[in-house]
Amino acid sequence: MSRRQKEKTTMSNDCENCGKCCIETEMILSEYDIDLIIRKSQDHVIKQDFCFKNKDEHHQLKNIKGHCVFFDYPSKFCTIYEYRPQGCRFYPLIFDINELKCKLDEDCPRNNLFYQNKQVLKVKCDHLKRFLKEQLKITII
Ligand code: SF4
Ligand code: SF4
Repeated sequence: MSRRQKEKTTMSNDCENCGKCCIETEMILSEYDIDLIIRKSQDHVIKQDFCFKNKDEHHQLKNIKGHCVFFDYPSKFCTIYEYRPQGCRFYPLIFDINELKCKLDEDCPRNNLFYQNKQVLKVKCDHLKRFLKEQLKITII
């Protein structure tokens, strides 16, 4: 897939020079995410270019050379930052299916920088749960 320089946008400052969550990504995509990427991409991507169905029948971002297809490894840019999947927007906020609660992923080395406001954290957690239930059809309770 070719990439266009003008699509490149830096990740938020908290993520500068990191990109760890884009390495060997297992990010799940909703139909909305897929449609948005296809609609917004100037590279005329098709679904098969960037996602596949995993063993749970969820659409998942593809990796190439060990990182997300949309990650520009040398510069650590997300090439679709403005229309990146919703899961990437919530991250490092995740929903722990075993503990049945939202948490900040320990794999993110800067997770303490995100969602410091408790009220915002609660609202985002509600959004994340709704996203999982309504768009990904994942039963969480
Ligand atoms: S792992 Fe955390 S700090 Fe690094 S890019 Fe992802 S969200 Fe940002
Ligand atoms: S879509 Fe962007 S933010 Fe999400 S995993 Fe891929 S490169 Fe990272």
